[in-house]
Amino acid sequence: MLDIQKIRNDFPILEQKVYGKPLVYFDNAATSQTPECVVNTIRDGYDRINANVHRGVHFLSQEATEGHENARKRVQQYLHAAHDYEIIFTRGTTESINLVASSFGDAFLKDGDEIILSEMEHHANIVPWQLLQNRKKIILRVVPIDENGELKMDVFRSLFNEKTKLVSLSHISNVLGTVNPIKEIISISHSHDVPVLLDGAQAAPHTRIDVQDLDVDFYVLSAHKMYGPTGIGVLYGKEKWLNVMPPYQGGGEMISHVSFEKTTFNELPYKFEAGTPDYIGTMAFATALDYIESIGIENIAAHEQDLLRYTTGQLMQIDGMRIFGTAHEKSAVISFLVKDIHHYDMGMLLDKLGFATRTGHHCAQPLMQALGVEGVLRASFAVYNTKEEADAFVAAVDRVAKMF
Ligand code: PLP
Repeated sequence: MLDIQKIRNDFPILEQKVYGKPLVYFDNAATSQTPECVVNTIRDGYDRINANVHRGVHFLSQEATEGHENARKRVQQYLHAAHDYEIIFTRGTTESINLVASSFGDAFLKDGDEIILSEMEHHANIVPWQLLQNRKKIILRVVPIDENGELKMDVFRSLFNEKTKLVSLSHISNVLGTVNPIKEIISISHSHDVPVLLDGAQAAPHTRIDVQDLDVDFYVLSAHKMYGPTGIGVLYGKEKWLNVMPPYQGGGEMISHVSFEKTTFNELPYKFEAGTPDYIGTMAFATALDYIESIGIENIAAHEQDLLRYTTGQLMQIDGMRIFGTAHEKSAVISFLVKDIHHYDMGMLLDKLGFATRTGHHCAQPLMQALGVEGVLRASFAVYNTKEEADAFVAAVDRVAKMF
């Protein structure tokens, strides 16, 4: 059993009141809160060792470089990657996918080639491929979802042909909470010799990720959804792919030698990290991973699953409740509408009662279209949320629903 009160003490932000009401933060799928230890790493980084990495002979620069490279090793260990140079630091999931779309797309895709996506993708895993379509006539094949919000795997299987060059899917849906059968997806894709990119933005905060066991080709995530700082993300890529992919951006760090006649590029991972990285952010992310491991990702997931089951059951008692996403295996997000109340009106009123939720299309407009709605209201949980908060939330939703 986790001592949730003790965990909550690590997050001063949760103690505050908004509009005079205790804050209940149920917007964790958008951004999770940051424990004090992570903030301390940021403060300590600026207080003690702030200096540009990799280029300086002086003490501070060496300390910063060591901290940054140790953070890379920490991420490698966390994802169980074979090599630290397979960890590329980016600004987030969005930038990681853009990197692959641009670099892999330039190197390996030609007119007529196909990429398999799904109906439940976040815009971050749709638009980068559409931008690539401006340069190459690639075709996007889309796996539909069924009434539970699960991928139609028979359709997925049927989409492969000799033109299929990449499968790019979310590990967990940010709206439906659906946990996709990624082992099966990877195995099917590899049987066709097609590499797989998994958007792990919603999975990495709740699930143990072992990229070698999965045999996944690319895995991307954002630190700010994992109790870490904003502006830090990761692209894990298999060495065999990263080595043959061209650089994404040009500048300092990513070169080996520059002349006006010919420039040669640095080795991995620096080839993909142009410019000064957010080395204090990466160190803070490493602290966030330590924090997760000090609690145990399985313990976090079990606690969130309890909250998910409990809150879903309670919400279902409310007249006119419609929950979107009833997958077999589901992560701790609940997207819903009540009667014909607009999600925005419901969200605004809940906000005034102290509840932070998210309303709208959740950067998944094609999914909204598939669901036949314009938007939904989403509550999403993290390790510090409590059953008492869930009770208060259900009562507030019921109260707001009765106002209409
Ligand atoms: N993919 C999924 C499934 C997400 O939920 C999100 C963020 O909500 C993203 C991608 C984009 O993440 P970021 O904005 O951190 O780049």
